[in-house]
Amino acid sequence: MTTIARSISRMFKPKPRKPSPFQLGWGKSLLLALPMLLLTALMTFGQVMSSGQPESLVLLATLLVWVFLNVLFFLMLKTGRTDRYRALLFVVMALGFIVFFMTTIIETRGSLALTGANMVSGETPFCHLVIPMIIIPAALTRTIIFPGSLLAGFASVAGMIVIWTGASLVLGRAWCSWGCFYGGLDDGFSRLLKKPVIKNINRKWTYLPYAVLLGIVLTSAITLTPTYCEWLCPFKTVTEFEAITSIETVIKAVIFVSLFVSLVVVLPILTRRRTQCGLFCPLGAVQNWTNKVNVYDVRIDPEKCTHCGHCVTNCSTFSLDDSCMTSGRTLISCSKCGKCIDICPRQAISYHVKGTRPGAHQLAARLLFLYPAFLFLATFGGGMLISAIWRILRLVTTGSMI
Ligand code: SF4
Ligand code: SF4
Repeated sequence: MTTIARSISRMFKPKPRKPSPFQLGWGKSLLLALPMLLLTALMTFGQVMSSGQPESLVLLATLLVWVFLNVLFFLMLKTGRTDRYRALLFVVMALGFIVFFMTTIIETRGSLALTGANMVSGETPFCHLVIPMIIIPAALTRTIIFPGSLLAGFASVAGMIVIWTGASLVLGRAWCSWGCFYGGLDDGFSRLLKKPVIKNINRKWTYLPYAVLLGIVLTSAITLTPTYCEWLCPFKTVTEFEAITSIETVIKAVIFVSLFVSLVVVLPILTRRRTQCGLFCPLGAVQNWTNKVNVYDVRIDPEKCTHCGHCVTNCSTFSLDDSCMTSGRTLISCSKCGKCIDICPRQAISYHVKGTRPGAHQLAARLLFLYPAFLFLATFGGGMLISAIWRILRLVTTGSMI
């Protein structure tokens, strides 16, 4: 128990090192945090108040989430560090998502097990991982091969596609460290050990997501079913799953649980890398290409770099190798988590706005990235967190989450 507690505290504990060149004084930090304070108030309280007279537990949950979001953003500004505060919110969002999702599904459908009747009535929430699978079938047959609602709410097909497209155009693969409500799981597990047990991973494995992508796009087009969702998604283990009624559904359940345990829990712990996101996720493969069209990237100053390799061994999405230190660019899979920027002893890495001179106006570039990225994470995760905390408060006060 003590070991687990020590590991969890180490996940986010600041390590002593040189002060960040981006750290700010109290006054500047407060001033720059003000827009986020107002925008998140508008988002969280505005959303809660728009649904009529909210109950006191909902208001309390909203207040807690609003304070939590703004403390983290303030700390990003004050300390000049990004990754540890991002990761804390990202992990909490992923846990909140599971509580929110499971309780909502049990409340509306009575069970996490998905039946044929649920599918016919379109009661399945759509998630962004399905997006690559629906494109060819939609073009060929004018049908969305997913048993969910097309328009109702943010978990509808249209709602999720609009959110994903907008966020990807602005942030690129930062989606995977600032938006994906599953990503916090392998991100969190990858921080449990201080040193990796498995150190050397063959870079060829980073091509696997493209193979998975190709496989599921083709099989979905041939079978007109979302094959990743039906056969391969590790996150079925912590969301909803097909009711176990046959040998086929037993096999599916075994696959889901095995992939979850290996890719999301065990391998991230042993390698200190996000193995599900970096070595398997087919949406991650698509997301890589959005890094080509979005506004921001992360740049390395070859003149400052001493080739210590610290960033290469610590990048959890396999987005740095030795070639990056001479080219000054990260690999295409960079999710802009900020970890390498925080840990580089030479302060050679920084956020960059495309079209500007690399290395110039680094503080401005960091702020120009942090505002939209954090606001997106706060918007996407805030609603789920409010709902999850409200459920937990209900459990404490009434003995039931539902
Ligand atoms: S951590 Fe900094 S100095 Fe070390 S290899 Fe990376 S960019 Fe170069
Ligand atoms: S290259 Fe740096 S910012 Fe990009 S994913 Fe790796 S650690 Fe994060």
